[in-house]
Amino acid sequence: MVNKKLKILMIGAHPDDNDFRCGGIALKYIQQGHSVRFLSVCDGSGGHHIMSPEEIRIRRRKEADAVAAISGIEYDIWDIPDCEVVADIENRKRMVRYIREYQPDIIFTHRNNDYHADHRNVALLVQDASYLLIVPNFCPDIQPLKETPVIMYFYDKFKNPYFEPDIVIPIDDVIDTKYEMIHCNTSQVYEWLPYTNGVLNMVPKDEGERKKWLRQPTVPKDGTLLSEKDLDIFKPSNNSEYREATPAVKYRQKIIERYGEKAKGTLFAEAFQVSEYGKNLTEKNSKILFPF
Ligand SMILES: [Zn+2]
Repeated sequence: MVNKKLKILMIGAHPDDNDFRCGGIALKYIQQGHSVRFLSVCDGSGGHHIMSPEEIRIRRRKEADAVAAISGIEYDIWDIPDCEVVADIENRKRMVRYIREYQPDIIFTHRNNDYHADHRNVALLVQDASYLLIVPNFCPDIQPLKETPVIMYFYDKFKNPYFEPDIVIPIDDVIDTKYEMIHCNTSQVYEWLPYTNGVLNMVPKDEGERKKWLRQPTVPKDGTLLSEKDLDIFKPSNNSEYREATPAVKYRQKIIERYGEKAKGTLFAEAFQVSEYGKNLTEKNSKILFPF
């Protein structure tokens, strides 16, 4: 069982959510020979201040293709326009059929409480699908699963209720490739997100300079351990090293519990919470599903 090849399904609302929220752990699964598929439920057509919905939709498909090419991750994008996902019967059936067809061992997705309606509705679609995956008379055209997979939520900082980490995985060994994946989302990280944050004039033109800017401010590499208070500094980029370090700083004790004192200096991590609507995460299946 230890060498079982896993199928990992990561479901985000937009074509960069998975890259940001679970790109590191996705790369670690790929490194071990497992299969990872990203699904973006929305088509990315809302994410630009200059380009038309059709232009940005096509561009974001190409950006997702670039992410797939450097990572080995399959990258699906559905045709639902940004800001228009609803958890209705049609989408519920589509989600059930999609998950049954792929037969994942584990699913990662958003939590239900989130600022963005698309994130919330995608979370709800997965939640609504979770039990129906095993119900033969729902979508009888496609074979039901024998059991619902384990479902994990992405880390977020929303407060009602707070995210509670069950699994915290260091990603120092794949952080550079994760940044390459994020860099592929050019229309977002260098255009749309800086535009919404009012820092468009700070974005360098040169590609190499952009890659450096994306990580600013960088976290100390001299063994200094950051505290949660240190995280509260100005970050021009949406994906500074401080963002990638946040779960490592907040949940350092969990990392030490899992990996011992030697992991105390972990710089970057991703954290996930078990959904009560999926299969239980036990000590036994956790070793199989999180083999690092
Ligand atoms: Zn999103």
